[in-house]
Amino acid sequence: MSRPRLMIPGPIEFTDEVMAEMARPTPSHVDPGFIAIFGQALEDLRSVFLAGPDYQPFILAGSGTLAMDSAVANLVEPGDRVLVVDTGYFSQRMADIVQRYGGEVTRLRAAPGETVSAEQLREALAQDAYDLVTITHVDTSTGVLTDVQGLTAAAKDEGALVIVDGVCAAAAEEMRQEAWDVDVYLTASQKAIGTPPGLGLLVVSPQAKAKWLGRSTPVGSYYSDWGYWLPIMEAYEARKASYFATPAVNLVMALAVSLRQILNEGMEQVFARHERLSNAVKAGIEAMGLGQVPTDAAHAAHTLTCPRYPEGVDAGFLKFVREEGAILAGGLHPAIKSEYFRIGHMGAVSRADVLTVLGAVEAGLRRAGYAVEPGVALAAAQAELAR
Ligand SMILES: *Cc1c(COP(=O)(O)O)cnc(C)c1O
Repeated sequence: MSRPRLMIPGPIEFTDEVMAEMARPTPSHVDPGFIAIFGQALEDLRSVFLAGPDYQPFILAGSGTLAMDSAVANLVEPGDRVLVVDTGYFSQRMADIVQRYGGEVTRLRAAPGETVSAEQLREALAQDAYDLVTITHVDTSTGVLTDVQGLTAAAKDEGALVIVDGVCAAAAEEMRQEAWDVDVYLTASQKAIGTPPGLGLLVVSPQAKAKWLGRSTPVGSYYSDWGYWLPIMEAYEARKASYFATPAVNLVMALAVSLRQILNEGMEQVFARHERLSNAVKAGIEAMGLGQVPTDAAHAAHTLTCPRYPEGVDAGFLKFVREEGAILAGGLHPAIKSEYFRIGHMGAVSRADVLTVLGAVEAGLRRAGYAVEPGVALAAAQAELAR
């Protein structure tokens, strides 16, 4: 393959089998064959999130932001008190959406690169009562992984519902939605789920559905209202025709293939592969003398790595990396944007991708004037992979 590998935190490289679905003639959204595919995709989405049959999946045309909008529009009523665990750029977006629907936001903020512990959340929840807690599983702007299990337990003990933004984590980081009692887990198609951009995905707990059913005010968004979408999802899962707004037919077909690929590998294997490859990338980055944004390896994500630029190197170096074979992303968190870059390694990522990207970063750094001995990052990654 002569084109550079796309290794940003989404969109990612998609498998050939997934891409082939995008090129098929588009069937009717009520074609029996398509209904069967949609129904299977709903069931498989639940399995990927490790949620049981009473959890409700939604597959919507839109991006990850629509999935966030859908969760908040339906679960937050004006005046609801919402605690936002704020680990970066996308936590901020969640707070904005909550405010847009009339929720009262309190932020529990971590400095860039830091996380919020379950103990800190318990302290905050002891001060005040909250209807809902939002958590960003992996904040794509810092590469920080939150302790979703511990944070969720803290929130549920105080009677709050929990929405987890898993856009940069789902189908890569360990997540057991039902066992961990997460009320909404949401993502977008173009990240680790491995389907081109254009689908927002959510799975909703029975408890969250009950809160939505008990609303005293109408949902403030027409398109996001589960009142329209729930019967559609139920119909497709029952393998029946139904229509509210046209589904993104080819994307749903592609999603069905990628969910099958994920389940065929097995969730435990998927989690372990992301951890192993991430450790190799991080070992390579460290071997070149670069720091990382997460302040502790224990709360660093396995879906991306956020290396800090060494002295004398800036975002201009990403052009060299691209020429050497990998497309990477610049910084995103406003407070530290110019200080770091981001390497995505999620979805159908392999050991070959890890070696490609580290080789490209090594070569790019040398071209940017930073002295790095050829092969040091690759050797460190290979040693890590051999463990
Ligand atoms: C990418 C991302 C989003 C936004 O998703 P879009 O598909 O760009 O709307 C939200 N949250 C997190 C954590 C993300 O990584």
